[in-house]
Amino acid sequence: MLIVPEREIANLMTREAAFGAVEKVFAAMARDEAYNFPVVREAIGHEDALYGFKGGFDRAGATLGLKAGGYWPNNLDKRGLINHQSTVFLFDPDTGMPSAMVGGNLLTALRTAAASSVSIKHLARDDAKVLGMIGAGHQATFQLRAALEQRRFEKVIGWNYHPEMLPNIAEVAEAAGVPFEAAELPGMAEADVIISITSAFAPSLMADHVSPGTHVACMGTDTKGKQEVEAALLARASVFTDEVAQSVSIGEAQHAVAAGLVGEADITQIGAVINGTHPGRSSAEEITLFDGTGVGLQDLAVAAAVVELAVERGVAIEVDF
Ligand code: NAD
Repeated sequence: MLIVPEREIANLMTREAAFGAVEKVFAAMARDEAYNFPVVREAIGHEDALYGFKGGFDRAGATLGLKAGGYWPNNLDKRGLINHQSTVFLFDPDTGMPSAMVGGNLLTALRTAAASSVSIKHLARDDAKVLGMIGAGHQATFQLRAALEQRRFEKVIGWNYHPEMLPNIAEVAEAAGVPFEAAELPGMAEADVIISITSAFAPSLMADHVSPGTHVACMGTDTKGKQEVEAALLARASVFTDEVAQSVSIGEAQHAVAAGLVGEADITQIGAVINGTHPGRSSAEEITLFDGTGVGLQDLAVAAAVVELAVERGVAIEVDF
């Protein structure tokens, strides 16, 4: 069995490799060659932690396994550790033997940013110039850095519930050579692409804050009860997702579905657009919305890619197991 520790991931994994792995597995999902197992997420009654598993099997990529981990809210204050903790375990699909154990913290941020980037590549207008960011926490910096590579953006505008955090994303935009401006939510009407990545349980972005032709990537809602955008926005938009079952139960679409504004049949897997079996955006005025719920197969895909890189560079630790 191979081990790739968390400390090695930053030296090995690139945004390009994460993008390629995620785009490929989304495509395999839409061909029914890869599927996710039901998500397990438990409040364990210890340290206020949420712990769970996301797993799946990608027959096309011969990748089987799971990501185990969750959220320990006291880690930072009590122990100086980051609050999100996860590890990916891969298994040989021919034998069931464990094949790799991989640090999953940085990979989670890279695979989540890759998902919204894949949606921008396939759904945003080619002439998109203004990128709107809602959220300025840990994931937002990764989201922004990756999104800037997808179009020739000329400006980033950002809003955050805690405005004192905005410098986190302003620094990323400016380091990439793109000017940054703080905005109010109605000001998002200027954006051609909007990414929302917050831990909110009530909508910030309203349907009338979004102009025709915009692509919106909703990336923060990954649990029942969370919500970032008004349900009416989904009714106005063509809705795409990583996985329909997660979108309607734990994703942004849960609220529009509960309100009867959108049905399961109205939501398209992004993989269908990647494979060319769905046309994607149909006009310059259409609002497209990607509900990025985060699937286990994304974690397995980036972990398998990083194991290959670790073997190539001679940094994978081999253990007899
Ligand atoms: P973080 O704690 O670093 O940042 C949280 C962000 O949410 C900040 O911008 C904060 O200001 C904002 N926020 C907090 N309360 C808010 C409120 N009431 N209204 C509006 N905004 C509010 O967290 P993070 O690591 O950046 O994660 C952000 C979200 O993304 C979390 O909900 C996390 O579960 C989710 N996430 C999703 C995926 C996926 O695959 N879809 C993957 C990883 C994380």
